[in-house]
Order: sequence, then structure tokens, then C-alpha cells
Amino acid sequence: MSVTYLKKAPKTSATDAGDVQETVRGILNDIEAGGEDAARKYAAKFDRYDGNILLTRDEIDAAAAKVPQVLKDDIRFAHDNVRRFAEAQKSTIQDMEYEIHPGLIAGQKAIPCNAAGCYAPGGRYSHVASALMTVTTAKVAGCGHITACSPPRPEIGVNPAIIYTADICGADSILALGGVQGIAAMAFGLFGLPKSDILVGPGNQFVAEAKRMLFGRVGIDMFAGPTDSLILADASADPEIVAWDLVGQAEHGYNSPVWLVTDNRELAEKVLNRVPELIETLPETNAQNAAAAWRDYAEVILCDTREEMAATSDAYAPEHLTVQAEELDWWLNRLSCYGSLFLGEETTVAFGDKASGTNHVLPTSGAAKYTGGLSVHKYMKLVTWQRATREGSKSVAEATARISRLEGMEGHARTADIRLAKYFPGENFD
Ligand code: NAD
Repeated sequence: MSVTYLKKAPKTSATDAGDVQETVRGILNDIEAGGEDAARKYAAKFDRYDGNILLTRDEIDAAAAKVPQVLKDDIRFAHDNVRRFAEAQKSTIQDMEYEIHPGLIAGQKAIPCNAAGCYAPGGRYSHVASALMTVTTAKVAGCGHITACSPPRPEIGVNPAIIYTADICGADSILALGGVQGIAAMAFGLFGLPKSDILVGPGNQFVAEAKRMLFGRVGIDMFAGPTDSLILADASADPEIVAWDLVGQAEHGYNSPVWLVTDNRELAEKVLNRVPELIETLPETNAQNAAAAWRDYAEVILCDTREEMAATSDAYAPEHLTVQAEELDWWLNRLSCYGSLFLGEETTVAFGDKASGTNHVLPTSGAAKYTGGLSVHKYMKLVTWQRATREGSKSVAEATARISRLEGMEGHARTADIRLAKYFPGENFD
């Protein structure tokens, strides 16, 4: 493969891992021992917030009253799209039963978790869309109790639009709590809530590490780090749109990688020149995030063929993958590692991030090699059951007894023997 780096990143998410483990372990231990008071202490320390944590109905209604009607309409539009796509996904999981051999019937059932905890980040930006994506899918899955939590701002509390969104999407409880303390409160069942069976949603390295450490005691959607995006573009792509799409995703944070993979040097050079100019046109903080991400994490890669482009993309396994190239169906069939795929110039990652209906909680840092993003399936346990007639159990019991004895598991063998003796008295099963 002949791949040329026109821009190589000095950093990657692996080199940037940092040592947050000790901090997170300390906070989790402290909150598990100290409960709500300890959670409040960390809200005061990290978010300078000492207001109410479990929001009341009045507080939720007051927040809704502060959200402009046009934004409410947009949130409802996006909610409708996300809900309908999640419902369509849910219809692909079927309960089923199957007669394995005469008299032996087995089946599967999809059962939603009883309690879900949904994290909507709120440090750098107010991630209304994360509340939308996580709570809506939990609701469609059928989770019994849904808690949403998001970091409060000093004296202000949680952004009213996040509260409004979590409420209309189906949250039963909303916590004004961010970071590790928010995750811990949902996992340990503080503030009168049921303990969450599964924790979902994106977040910074502290949130991600807390979820990773709690995994096993609770389920998690995935280990999600800083957002990343890759664009595959050929000579047919519009360099101005490619450049904006890279800038839009670099805005996420100083450590959000964006990658361009192309077989067209002219396009690559135009984009390389244009991106820094576009970044400068953003508001100051956004520009600082995007400039740092572009400087430290961005790459521009020149390939000889589209097959090389596809192989390069699969090796990166990006969270968001955009194709602005000819023959979109070829790319759809060929590509195998991505969280969500955006085919053609007419759609873009921001559509999926905010409103088009697919979920924006997606695998980052190469996790798309082994998992997809958040969907109703993540909240549902695909469990099995079986039953048998006495006649149907006979051959299974005989095989079970022999396999168990070969393994040295005499107790297992006897559970088969006792049934054979009861159902088929007088027969010899040696
Ligand atoms: P956040 O809500 O994840 O984190 C804010 C919290 O971090 C605060 O409440 C605070 O408690 C905690 N914190 C800050 N400094 C701390 C410290 N030194 N020690 C312990 N805790 C500390 O918000 P954020 O920081 O803006 O991060 C959001 C992340 O979510 C970004 O990385 C973004 O890329 C990602 N994101 C991903 C997706 C996706 O779908 N993959 C979508 C939206 C956002």
C-alpha cells in the first residue's frame, strides 16, 4: 500500500490517555462511602454548584418555560426522528421460539434493563443532543426507570434546554450533577433513585473512566473517548465543504482527531490551506478547540487508489465516517469499520449529531472495530429459555449424563439420571 502523510498528527488518543485513573478511583470510592453528601461536595468542587440536585417537577417546568419556542420545535423535530429510527431498530429484534428436536423447545426474549442512567455532557458545550439520543433510545427500549444527568453551571444549574429535552424524551428523574459524581450517583442509586443497570452517554476522560471502572457492576454502552471523524474524498468532492466538515468536527475539543483520506493531491492541498482560515472565523473558544485539534491530532493522507483509501479508513475505524466520492454504493459495500457512515455531500456528521435520527453516541478511538454505537439493542438483554416434554428430554438427558461424567462433573450427571429414572422407569441408561 502506498500511503503518503501530507499532514501527520504529533498526538493520538493513545498518547493522550493521561493518568485520570487515580482521580476517578478516589472520587468513586469517596462517593460510595459518603453517599449524597460526597456527591454534593464534588459538585461544589468541580462545577462550583451547591443548588438542588434531584430536580423537582416545578424546576423542570420552570426550565421548559425558559426555552424559546423555535428551539422547542427543533428539539421535538429531532426527537421525532430519533424515536422513529429507534422504533424501527427495535422491530429488528424479535422474540422467537424454535423446536430444536421433537419435544425440546427453546426461545429467545429481548428484555429491557429495569433502570438506565443517561449522561449528557455539559462541560465545554451544552450537549442537548446527547440527552435526546440517550433518553429517547432508553424509552423506546422500554427501560423501567430512566435517569438523566448533566453538569450544572455555577448558580445557574443545568442548561434549561437539556432539562426540557430530557423531560420530553422520557426521563423519569433529572440530576444536576456532572462528571464522576453524576455517573456514581446513577450507579449507586443516590438521591432516592434506583441503581442504574446500564450507564450510557458520551463524556470527557473522567466520565469515560468512571464508566469503565464501574463496568461489570453495571453495564455500559461502550468506552467512549474524544469524538473523532474521517472524511474519504475523491476528485469529485467540493474542497470548501470538505474543509468545513473537518473544522466542524475539530470544534468538539482540543483532542478531537479529524482525518482526511483522499486520492487527489490537489483537493488535499486546497483543504490543508483552507482549514486554518475557516477556523479563524469561529467564535474564540470554538476556534481555540478546533485549532488545537487541527494542530495536534489532524491528519491528511494521500492514497493511490480508492481501495487503499477504504483500507486506510478501516484501519482508523473512525467514530464518524463521511464519503464525498463517486459511486457511494461501492463505499457502502466496501467499508467495514465505522460508528456511523455519512454518504454523499448532501448529508453531514452534524445532521446525525443533532437531528437526522441515527444515534450520535458512537464508538471512538478505534472501538468501531468491535462495536457499533448506541441503539435500543444496548439496553436490551437477549435472553434464552427452554422447555421439554418428558419424551423430548430423554436424548438430551442421556447425552448430558455422559458429557458430564467425561468432564468429571458427577453432580451434573445425577440431575440427568434422576429424570431418566423418574420418566422412564425400568429402562437401562448405562
Ligand atoms: P463533561 O460533561 O463530559 O465533563 C464535565 C465534568 O467533568 C464536570 O462536571 C466535572 O465534574 C468533571 N471534571 C472536570 N475537570 C475535572 C477534574 N480535574 N477532575 C475530576 N472531574 C473533573 O463535558 P466535557 O468536558 O465538555 O466533555 C464532553 C466530551 O464528550 C468531549 O470529549 C466530547 O468530544 C464528547 N462528546 C462525544 C459525543 C459522541 O457521540 N461521541 C457527543 C457529544 C460529546
